[in-house]
Amino acid sequence: MLEVNKIIRFSYGSEIEYQRLASQAAEIWGEWNQEIASMAGERVEELPGVLQRGERMVWNKCGFLRMAVGSEFPDIELDTLRNMEKEGIRDTQFRSDDDIDVERASKSGWGHKLDACRRQERFGVHKAVLDSSAGFTVAYKACAWAQYLARKAGVEFILHPTKGKVTNIDTTATEKPIVQTADGVTHEADLVVVAGGGWTAGLLPEADGLIETTAGSVATIQLPKERLDLWERFSPENFPVITWGFSEGKDAYSFPRDENGVIKIGFRKTKWTNYGDVAGKRISVPRAVQSKETDIPAPALEGIKEYISLNLPELVELGLSSTFLCWYTDSIDNSFVVDFVPNRSGVAICTGGSGHGFKFLPILGREVVKILEGKGDQTVYGQMWKWRTSTATKRNGLEEGEEGPRVLEKQKMASREDWVF
Ligand SMILES: Cc1cc2nc3c(=O)[nH]c(=O)nc-3n(C[C@H](O)[C@H](O)[C@H](O)COP(=O)(O)OP(=O)(O)OC[C@H]3O[C@@H](n4cnc5c(N)ncnc54)[C@H](O)[C@@H]3O)c2cc1C
Repeated sequence: MLEVNKIIRFSYGSEIEYQRLASQAAEIWGEWNQEIASMAGERVEELPGVLQRGERMVWNKCGFLRMAVGSEFPDIELDTLRNMEKEGIRDTQFRSDDDIDVERASKSGWGHKLDACRRQERFGVHKAVLDSSAGFTVAYKACAWAQYLARKAGVEFILHPTKGKVTNIDTTATEKPIVQTADGVTHEADLVVVAGGGWTAGLLPEADGLIETTAGSVATIQLPKERLDLWERFSPENFPVITWGFSEGKDAYSFPRDENGVIKIGFRKTKWTNYGDVAGKRISVPRAVQSKETDIPAPALEGIKEYISLNLPELVELGLSSTFLCWYTDSIDNSFVVDFVPNRSGVAICTGGSGHGFKFLPILGREVVKILEGKGDQTVYGQMWKWRTSTATKRNGLEEGEEGPRVLEKQKMASREDWVF
């Protein structure tokens, strides 16, 4: 199952640096869309295959509705609005409880998305902010486009299952790191940058404690072709990306349907860990390495079903089409980790996406290069993303380790029978 869509948002509570970086990334997302559209004529065959067919775009500014659970906004929402005001972009936001905003939304063509789930009519309460500058990226098309640009710039990709799979990074044998691949070949390198997502701590066990591999729970619903009413209702033109109860104990989200009629719904309240043996340590690693996992833990399925029942009730009769786990790399503070690895000459790490990294695809390289060129101390992001430790009692759940309650092995996994509403 392809992980199709990722949210592009600018709402970051008090973390204005991420808000700014996301805004800068959005400019490039927009340029990418334009460039792809401009190639759609005579140069269409130059485009990666997935962009030759279907919708030729990598990001869709369909809007992003941040819904509170009850009648109050959480602090993070108010912080976001303050920071948007500070940056002069408050006019892109519409509060459902502000008459002026509601009127502005309706005049600018966003009114129909402000209460997309008709919560006011059904529950008598709807507290939300619609961000008209946000939306989603079609992740597999964005990856194909980024790969196309990188190839044009001279990057060589080795995607072979053994030739391209790193099994060890040895920094003890010579002054230069030696990378071993699964085909048994060794490669001497001047610089090795480990950007292995959920597999990073498995390759650099010393990063365990600073980062942790966790799984998010995802479900999809396939709209039947004949249900034109639902295709229309849940199209990006009519329906925004939605998060619900982000910091209020619900933490679920959904996307409008994609071009194939698939609606993705995610549950982020609990991220699951999966411990295994790596270099004599117990480290959380993606379970997909050991077995293909399509079931999700029962509490996650319940959270997803609750979200659908309350907010997307028209979809209940269809039932779910799939569930699966998707692997994150969380850091101790949800901020990225981009730095040279201590005591490993010539090895750098680039990870810690913490569930919000994808939107930065067009812009991250700009900051990573500065850090790799040794200028990290002079940049805001270089300082934020340093290799670091923390003694805080709460470290984004990393303090729980294998004894914690989120370990996958301890969960009752939901099965297909549980998909029924
Ligand atoms: C459920 C879920 C929802 C998310 N939603 C959003 C969202 O809405 N918006 C957003 O911005 N972000 C989102 N994210 C986060 C985003 O997907 C990540 O931050 C981003 O993908 C991290 O990129 P990465 O390159 O660090 O790691 P990855 O994308 O995981 O890439 C790691 C790469 O390393 C390769 N690799 C691994 N091991 C080896 C090896 N031994 N040898 C060679 N190659 C190897 C893998 O094949 C993979 O290609 C979400 C993540 C999850 C799990």
